[in-house]
Amino acid sequence: MTTTSATEAAEAAPVAPITPAEGPSPATGSALDTAHAQLAAAVDILGYDDGLHTMLRMPRREMHVAVPLRRDDGTTQVLHGFRVQHNVSLGPGKGGLRYHPNVEIDEVRALAMWMTWKCGVVNLPYGGAKGGVAIDPRGYSAGELERVTRRYTSEIMPMIGPDNDIMAPDMGTDAQTMAWVMDTYSVAKGYTIPAVVTGKPLAVGGSLGRGTATSAGLVHVTAAALADAGVPLEGTTVAIQGFGKVGGHAAEIFAERGAKVVAVSDEYGGIRNDAGLDVPRLMEHVLATGSVVGFDESDPITNTALLALDVDVLAPAAIEGVLDEHTAGSVRARWVVEGANGPTTEAGDALLAKNDVTVVPDVLANAGGVVVSYFEWVQANQTYWWTEQEIAEKLGSRMHQAYRDVAELARREDLSLRDAAITIGVQRVAEAHQIRGLYP
Ligand code: GLU
Repeated sequence: MTTTSATEAAEAAPVAPITPAEGPSPATGSALDTAHAQLAAAVDILGYDDGLHTMLRMPRREMHVAVPLRRDDGTTQVLHGFRVQHNVSLGPGKGGLRYHPNVEIDEVRALAMWMTWKCGVVNLPYGGAKGGVAIDPRGYSAGELERVTRRYTSEIMPMIGPDNDIMAPDMGTDAQTMAWVMDTYSVAKGYTIPAVVTGKPLAVGGSLGRGTATSAGLVHVTAAALADAGVPLEGTTVAIQGFGKVGGHAAEIFAERGAKVVAVSDEYGGIRNDAGLDVPRLMEHVLATGSVVGFDESDPITNTALLALDVDVLAPAAIEGVLDEHTAGSVRARWVVEGANGPTTEAGDALLAKNDVTVVPDVLANAGGVVVSYFEWVQANQTYWWTEQEIAEKLGSRMHQAYRDVAELARREDLSLRDAAITIGVQRVAEAHQIRGLYP
């Protein structure tokens, strides 16, 4: 009888190195498929080889965890949880924690990759990361959400920390969620560590201006893009899909700056008023009822019809993949400003480009959130807090600088704003990687 040693077996069936074309193949039009296509375009522009492309494409580290939850009725439910660090060449992984029923590993991988390029575009000393739990938070009590958050944090504890991976709110999570993460982490370490999360409440070391930062950044880059075409923001018509942390505040800031918000929507439906919605009154209605639906002085509109409105600016600020091969062709806006992460698929992008719609991409348009997250982390690290005005000024100058960098490259190389933004993000990461060298 002959036996094969482990070494001989390994020699007999060598495992081929990973190439850019390999690895898990995400579904066409999915978030990861879109993210891969965007990276491939940037790699092509930069002329990188397959090895570097693969390094930029593969997530650096991932954890898949089971999150057991004791429900209020005494039963136990086990939820899927993930944390992905896509790249850490420029600094600690940075990115949100999402609670949504459709969360799955490929989506988290895509969102983590977008965080890497986003931090690169706005020149932050961070890599990209993302986490998620497959849960619909609307179906759970505050006590249950606290238990899920604490158990998830405890499960991914080896990956996170103020110097290696810093969480923030994302869809379905908020400042309270971050306070629970911070507390769980701090109790485990034995002392208070505010810099392990950003987007936390002011009372425990949050930053002024963080709550509205994504929306404020979005309006800054919209104004910059319009100014490039000689169009003032004042009087511009805007439609916003999504009325949560990003879309809701964006509507307020657009209105404050004299733009006319003519339609908004949320998961329950949409409303329109061509003369312009009274946004402060709409906010009161949403606070009282939980939805934009039913607001007086408005007519109902579906989410799909909202995307096709004849407006100057369309801001998809809800979920991924809403502008695809079926919907993007009907967009009549001159600018699409992406408040959500990944709202446009590759096919959607091609249709928008064909119809001369200028897309201000997510990694630039919604980067205001992570910019003020960075300010919060810096403040926590030095235990010194800035005023709201200081934060607003620093955010404004970072966003305008990032827009200028992207617009200049786009002009110089005749690229879309998306290709230019991803190229800048990718190049900054690759440069750091190359200067650091490969270990060993
Ligand atoms: N979740 C937000 C995003 O997608 C913010 C991330 C952060 O502040 O770390 O950009």
